[in-house]
Amino acid sequence: MTSRTNFEITFWGVRGSVPTPAQHTRKYGGNTPCLEVRAGNNLLLIDAGTGICRFTERLTQAQNQGLSISILLSHTHWDHIQGLPFFKLAFNPANNIKIYGPKRPGFTLRSCLEAAMTPPNFPIPFDLLAGIKEVIEIAPGEGIELDGVKISTAELNHPDGSIGFRIEHNGKSLAYCLDHEHEEPDQVHPGLRELAENSDVLIFDAAYSDEDYAKFKGWGHSTWQVGHKTAQQLGVKTLVLSGFNPDLTDDELDAIAEQTKDMTGNTIVAKEGETLAL
Ligand SMILES: [Zn+2]
Repeated sequence: MTSRTNFEITFWGVRGSVPTPAQHTRKYGGNTPCLEVRAGNNLLLIDAGTGICRFTERLTQAQNQGLSISILLSHTHWDHIQGLPFFKLAFNPANNIKIYGPKRPGFTLRSCLEAAMTPPNFPIPFDLLAGIKEVIEIAPGEGIELDGVKISTAELNHPDGSIGFRIEHNGKSLAYCLDHEHEEPDQVHPGLRELAENSDVLIFDAAYSDEDYAKFKGWGHSTWQVGHKTAQQLGVKTLVLSGFNPDLTDDELDAIAEQTKDMTGNTIVAKEGETLAL
């Protein structure tokens, strides 16, 4: 269903670190991050974890060629690019795919993607992805303008770096801030504030819960409670929790969904295959 603003998102991967097809992930899903964004005439995919393969499955034969797609990569950790070598649309020269990702000192974005697809680690080199027409580096803070869509970026806090995105279309805004940890849990990180303040939807890193956080402090991920506090502080309309640690079970995610119902603000636990209209 398309909203009046013609701006909607679909979750194809909500799991961090490693794909987790397991009994305990059947309900919310086990694929690594990929978000489909439809904004006006634009088709964007944010991150290319294994969820990107599920996005492809949904397209019919007629829909899977002649496509223009912008892929935004938050960073090149495995779980955010591991779907790319299996992304069928990228092998079709009839598609026009542009990949945007962060500029990092000492590495080009293309070299990071090539390294993940170099024989003998993977039989098909990146250059054979004939549907990928451009790989564009963006410095954190640099913007991207697409047809009727404004995208802002900012550096977040994560080992090796990660950038977040704010996507604006038709007066609505989406902030995507996965793989992020505030330096101090009680203080909103300036990059995240810039992207998420007064946004309609904030997608936030909810890898852990506060109860487990001490074990993972400094790993570059956050908790659902910090996400809730942050959303309240920044005047976010809808908070979406995503990027779950592979050990988080469906029952535990159900319990988080229950708890947030009694809290202020609107909170959603991201589920693979679900669509949200802005
Ligand atoms: Zn990461």
